[in-house]
Amino acid sequence: VSPRVQKLKKILGQSKVTTDPESLKIHSTDAWLIAHEPEVVVFATNTQDVARTMSFATRHRIPITVRGSGVGYVGGCVPLKGGIVLSLARMNRIKELNIEDGVAVVEPGVLTGDLQDAARARGFFYPPDPASLRESSLGGNLATNAGGPRCLKYGVTRHYALGLEVVLPTGKIIRAGGRTHKNKTGFDLVGLFVGSEGLLGTITEATLRLIPHPQARACLSAGFTHEKAGARAVQAILKAGHLPSALEISDAFTLKAVRNRFSDRKGGTGALNATILPKGDCHLLVELDGTRQSVRAEAQTISRLLRKLGANTIRVAETEEACEEIWELRREFSRSLKATGLLKLNEDITIPRSKLPDLFEFTKDLQKKHGIQIASFGHAGDGNIHVNIMVDTTSKRQMRISEVVLDQLFRTIIRWKGSITGEHGIGYAKKRWWPLAVSREVMDLHSQLKGITDPAGILNPGKFV
Ligand SMILES: Cc1cc2nc3c(=O)[nH]c(=O)nc-3n(C[C@H](O)[C@H](O)[C@H](O)COP(=O)(O)OP(=O)(O)OC[C@H]3O[C@@H](n4cnc5c(N)ncnc54)[C@H](O)[C@@H]3O)c2cc1C
Repeated sequence: VSPRVQKLKKILGQSKVTTDPESLKIHSTDAWLIAHEPEVVVFATNTQDVARTMSFATRHRIPITVRGSGVGYVGGCVPLKGGIVLSLARMNRIKELNIEDGVAVVEPGVLTGDLQDAARARGFFYPPDPASLRESSLGGNLATNAGGPRCLKYGVTRHYALGLEVVLPTGKIIRAGGRTHKNKTGFDLVGLFVGSEGLLGTITEATLRLIPHPQARACLSAGFTHEKAGARAVQAILKAGHLPSALEISDAFTLKAVRNRFSDRKGGTGALNATILPKGDCHLLVELDGTRQSVRAEAQTISRLLRKLGANTIRVAETEEACEEIWELRREFSRSLKATGLLKLNEDITIPRSKLPDLFEFTKDLQKKHGIQIASFGHAGDGNIHVNIMVDTTSKRQMRISEVVLDQLFRTIIRWKGSITGEHGIGYAKKRWWPLAVSREVMDLHSQLKGITDPAGILNPGKFV
């Protein structure tokens, strides 16, 4: 053990500092492709631990990377330059749940789903719902400004962050925002730290906004013969004045993967079985929430609209259980794509919604041109589509071509005034395309902001700023 690790143990206590090889390995990756081991892992249990570790790292110029649950998709918490990984997983207390004020005060290591459950038990709602909600931490969600299917109606994590306690890399502790639902005191510093991908400071406490939980929901599952018809239906639903809580689309390749997985099974498992698989090359999931009467009436209206627009299968779910069956099908998309045995490069591009039909056409052209398969599905309502490049890792050609395909995808998205990431962030995975996505001036401003909060440049080095 190096002298600096010994010093850290002295400052924080033996039980919070480890160089155990298994821990170093676990803290070397996230849900993306790269890995790099740190020299040491620190498990903070309170804000003071974070402040002490940060000022130690700044004083000794040691790289330090903050980690929530480590299920990010862009290598964000991977300690590319070694040094310290500061895990916040043990800071996992919900400190306060105040229904009268509509706020929750949480430590950063609380899992997203745990806060949702706790709020739900009191009749309240924390809407941000990344698919990883059973694993991801609220600190990680804040640092990546995580989204999910409900963003169409409820917005992203930023819209629920009222106040933050942040430890700067120098060890200084600041508080931004507060516990009111509106607050215009000074610059939007909460907005500065939300989405800053662990590059500007460490969130050690968050005051989050809670809203009343809708009484009921209804879901529709519809099949269309092709993606363009599905994309037209997305526009038609919104133009008719409906604002679903989720509006999800999926393409032919995704549905084929689900069918293949189920053709091996008799009737599927659990709630999911072959009978709820929609016909056609495109699937649309619509979720509505509100009062029991309103969602039922709206579901029937949308069902009629979808039929008019050429849907060949429509299933309306009006009970919690029936809605869950439809969501179980939606959750099956990712699993079925993984079950193909191909490497799934999951990109989370966002396009202006009117470009949805062009996106499907473009990905078809890419497939034809490069002989590689692409599966697209996602949050059609806000134009945030997961374009999954499916790579046969046994083929050197496919591995090489996948880079070309990604490059063409991102360049086209930028030309369409879309963004190369709607949810996951830039991290390390998209660093290559960062200079294409923003102007020189915006890159400079990012560097200047980083220089202010992290003058020694020790926090999460090697990423996009
Ligand atoms: C199966 C699966 C489904 C997913 N679905 C979605 C989805 O629907 N929507 C979506 O947005 N994302 C999704 N993701 C991506 C991922 O779950 C989110 O990015 C999530 O917010 C990461 O949280 P985490 O706790 O794992 O963060 P980590 O991976 O540990 O860290 C992510 C970044 O945040 C920084 N960070 C972590 N905690 C803090 C903190 N307290 N203060 C400052 N910086 C911090 C890290 O340094 C790193 O840069 C999915 C991932 C998986 C594996």
